[in-house]
Amino acid sequence: MRRRTFIKKLTWGTGALFMTHELSFANKSGGKIAVQMIYNNIIGDTGLKSAWGLSLWIDFGKDAVLFDTGGEPEVLWHNIQTCRIDLNKLSTVIISHNHWDHINGLGMILEKTDYKPVVYIPEMALRTVKQKHPKANLKGINEAQMIREHLWTTGQLKGSYKSDAIYEQAVFIINNGSLYIFTGCSHPGIVEIVAKVKQTHPEKQIEFAAGGFHLGGHTLGQLKDISVKLRKLDVKKIAPSHCTGDQAIEYFKEEWNDRFFEFYLRNRLEIPV
Ligand SMILES: [Zn+2]
Ligand SMILES: [Zn+2]
Repeated sequence: MRRRTFIKKLTWGTGALFMTHELSFANKSGGKIAVQMIYNNIIGDTGLKSAWGLSLWIDFGKDAVLFDTGGEPEVLWHNIQTCRIDLNKLSTVIISHNHWDHINGLGMILEKTDYKPVVYIPEMALRTVKQKHPKANLKGINEAQMIREHLWTTGQLKGSYKSDAIYEQAVFIINNGSLYIFTGCSHPGIVEIVAKVKQTHPEKQIEFAAGGFHLGGHTLGQLKDISVKLRKLDVKKIAPSHCTGDQAIEYFKEEWNDRFFEFYLRNRLEIPV
């Protein structure tokens, strides 16, 4: 089958990474993982509905993983249909943390897929989520571990939200020498999440961290501190979105310059494996 051409191409580090708004998956035999932002409050391209929250479709070719499910099921469903995503491929759902803007689409996804996907959720949220979705095939995550080939979770990390404890996991893709991090809200802290990833694979290069960084209300001094720490952890590029905060995004855009890239609603990137 003919594949569509890529619109944008970014190359760095040991492997090429392609960014595109195209919806078609690259050739199956080429060994690529395609990741598309299918739910975000920051809009990258027209045609999808935008609302507060985050969801990523991680397509491995034969099967796919959904990382978070956004806040409004109708919005997620609209975007899934518009992006022509085949939910039959969905083997796994990973929920970063039990906040409405990441978990509210889960019920709809499970209904549409006859409750087939395995749902990985931070262990500390297991009981609450079980009550709400008794038919779901839920698995609690505690430690950092491999979910499937090329995909890891950081394990649940403790964070805080409005003085309550919240447990959150981030995911990362691994290829030969590199790590590619995707976060939900980063309540435990983006630096802490990246440090945790680094700890699991100290010999590998962190190509990027993308997703919600949760830095609204941070002072310039605090943002600078985070920026320095991320560089010290050898993060090559960043793509903050969702709950990062406008001021923080502007700061990073300037400070990281060509090491900042946009990964917003409908943006899609491919990671060679
Ligand atoms: Zn949250
Ligand atoms: Zn959020």
